[in-house]
Amino acid sequence: MNQNLQIRKVAVLGAGVMGAQIAAHLVNANVPTILFDLAAREGEPNGIVNKALEGLKKLEPSPLASPAKVQYIVAANYQQHLEKLRECDLVIEAIAERVDWKSDLYHKVAPYLGAHAIFATNTSGLSINQLAAAFPESLRHRFCGIHFFNPPRYMHLVELIACENTDVGLLDQLETFLVSGLGKGVVRAKDTPNFIANRIGVFSLLATAHHARQMGLGFDTVDALTGRYLGRPKSATFRTLDVVGLDTFAHVVNTMRDNLADDPWHQYFAVPNWLEKLIAQGALGQKSKRGIYQKSGKEIRVLDLASGEYRASDNEVGLGMKELLRERDWAKKLAMLHSNPHPQAQFLWAMFRDVFHYCALQLEHIADNARDLDCAVRWGFGWDSGPFEIWQAAGWQQVAGWINADIAAGKAMFSAPLPAWVTEGSRNGVHNAQGSYAPAGKTYQPRSALPVYQRQIFPERLLGEVVFNKSLCTVGTGETIFENESVRLWHTGDDIAILSFNTKMHVIGDEVLDSILRAVDEAEARWRGLIIWQTEPPFSAGANLLQLMQGMQESAGDAGMLGKLKQAANRVKYTVAGGGGMGDLFKAAIGDVPRVEAVIAKFQQATMRIKYAKVPVVSAVDGLALGGGCEIIMHSARVVASLESYIGLVEVGVGVLPAGGGSKEATLRSASEAKGGDLFPFLRRYFQNIAMGEVAKSAELAREMGYLRPSDRIVLNRFEILHVAKQEIHALTATDYRPPLPATQIPVAGRPGIATLQAAMVNMLEGGFISEHDYKVGCAVADTLCGGDVEAGSLVDEQWLLDLERKHFIALLATEKTQARIEYMLKNGKPLRN
Ligand code: NAD
Repeated sequence: MNQNLQIRKVAVLGAGVMGAQIAAHLVNANVPTILFDLAAREGEPNGIVNKALEGLKKLEPSPLASPAKVQYIVAANYQQHLEKLRECDLVIEAIAERVDWKSDLYHKVAPYLGAHAIFATNTSGLSINQLAAAFPESLRHRFCGIHFFNPPRYMHLVELIACENTDVGLLDQLETFLVSGLGKGVVRAKDTPNFIANRIGVFSLLATAHHARQMGLGFDTVDALTGRYLGRPKSATFRTLDVVGLDTFAHVVNTMRDNLADDPWHQYFAVPNWLEKLIAQGALGQKSKRGIYQKSGKEIRVLDLASGEYRASDNEVGLGMKELLRERDWAKKLAMLHSNPHPQAQFLWAMFRDVFHYCALQLEHIADNARDLDCAVRWGFGWDSGPFEIWQAAGWQQVAGWINADIAAGKAMFSAPLPAWVTEGSRNGVHNAQGSYAPAGKTYQPRSALPVYQRQIFPERLLGEVVFNKSLCTVGTGETIFENESVRLWHTGDDIAILSFNTKMHVIGDEVLDSILRAVDEAEARWRGLIIWQTEPPFSAGANLLQLMQGMQESAGDAGMLGKLKQAANRVKYTVAGGGGMGDLFKAAIGDVPRVEAVIAKFQQATMRIKYAKVPVVSAVDGLALGGGCEIIMHSARVVASLESYIGLVEVGVGVLPAGGGSKEATLRSASEAKGGDLFPFLRRYFQNIAMGEVAKSAELAREMGYLRPSDRIVLNRFEILHVAKQEIHALTATDYRPPLPATQIPVAGRPGIATLQAAMVNMLEGGFISEHDYKVGCAVADTLCGGDVEAGSLVDEQWLLDLERKHFIALLATEKTQARIEYMLKNGKPLRN
């Protein structure tokens, strides 16, 4: 039985911030959805919902994977449409956070629920059992909590909370749907106020604010210390509050104060005076353009508590702190924070200490095991690692000793020692090969055995946990076929080879190209098929510009500069050391045209080899697939892309055009989409996207742009793409797989096509929308896509188009402006507009 299929239609009650966005994500997953709200007092009865649907189209980042999806949300109101509820297998309630209002609504809708429908509330902190009490007793076994995080499309976490009567099988079914159908990370939480993620996350924010005040640290300093340096979002602590909304945060804190009288840290559950003052002034954060921070022109100013005024924000961390903060090994980092007398180090240590203390004491009350707590904080607050993971990685017993010593010395926020289980025996952490620590049974609980997780060969890994799914990967963490600095070809114990890149951002350099050629040879000789899949996103940030130029530089004889550039290439964003100019490098390099051509030709050879391999090559994509990354996927027999794949041919950003077969595929695809009719409208779409360097903001949009074909697959859960890619190989080889026949008769738009595209660009140039160089690059793209200087409707083959790509690539590379763009990208990691 396929449990996913049972949820055919969903109703969402409440078209507010959460309800509307949950509805959007349901249609992202192709689940037809009815969105309810109160009937409007005046005008169109569905007015409230219609307004919310309009709002969805304007929100950034977009809750909709494509604007077209919104048509699958049907607007409804409780006055006219309650009968429609009978069609729904799942009803999600997301109305205002009031027990009385929610209870009233339950009475109203209960008689209309389908016989097997699940009813779930998205409350962020109210008691599920209390809410269940408002539900008819006969239906209570189908009631539960389903806590999405804002924004629901992007936040991975959903907490599922049973009430006393909830049917266990039904919750399993719901989890299956959430994980595979909607792509979420599900954590089962106990019915305690604010559940797991908000309970820990908000405590961490309060503890941070408390210690910052004690140490007299400014909001900007705290944010500089508690963001990426700790593996947390850039918005860190106080910027996060501004984004969430200071009023919303105050509401959550007040819920904790009102409902957690027994919590030993209760005295800290209070909204600080300064925050109350801001709220009273209507300074609610980002939504009211003023909060803890204020944007003034281009400058970000921060509230200074001493003066009550906003001052320039300096985001600088203390002298000597940077090195400590950059340390990636938690054992060294926490040891330094613990022993370093610098007030900023002591602040951070105090914050970690109290959060660890809180987690250890509360674990048994709020979660089944330590994995659920860590995952909830990772997925709900965007931390790279959860609190227990960090503690374990830092040396469990050592850190426990420090915490207990601080508690004994009266330094901690609460005076009771760590619970006994923490230091029992020779425990060295909470995650190990058996599972994660579960206080109820004092055992290590393995991961869920729910069949849906059999689709995740490599689920998200916690520090200290064993990673792979034993039934799906029978050879440990995979067996290597061959490996070098740039790639690893490997398998999981079946007959499918997997190619993963080892390069930074999975950029494609010379060795990657050689390895692709070798991997395809290998796959044809011994394997059923080849999957290109990365163990972490991105799929690929594109060609490694530096390595691509390496051959040319060597011939120019400037080994010193090459060394510098190589070093630079190993750093994030390829920053060039010492600002050494690249202009000379290119001037020398392009003197050696055959060498440059050889590199480009190898790129084309690699993508053509992928396309015409005797066994299917499937690209399993998650995250960025840009430039050369996009060209690889366009040449694959099949693409399996997670919804959050951001795909585009962005070469114009560095002043060149797609020359690894991407331009050629665009021409080919427009010809095949035109089905013998006028190909120009199809071609123009590819042209615009390439000439503007557009990146699709979802896999759905990539399909609309033509980078994914109708036959390619979009998968909601990124941890499932490898599994689905394998299934695709099985499907493709079930009938005798054959590569496509060579395209030898491709109709092109020729001279008239080029002229039309150029005319449009002339207008943009004269209107000041594009630069001279944009125009030049655009002309090269137009010429290539239209098949060059030929009659409209001429028939060409793939090699003709590839030759055009190479010719224009070399010509553009010879221009100073293109060289400046490449140099700027290497230095700054973003495109230069010149
Ligand atoms: P919201 O204020 O944006 O929307 C609430 C909706 O409820 C509105 O559309 C309103 O018309 C409707 N409503 C108000 N009173 C009603 C009544 N008596 N009967 C029927 N409908 C009524 O709220 P929100 O932020 O979307 O929150 C909705 C739920 O989701 C709450 O339970 C909240 O705790 C929870 N939640 C919110 C967030 C968040 O970040 N906003 C995150 C997770 C969970």
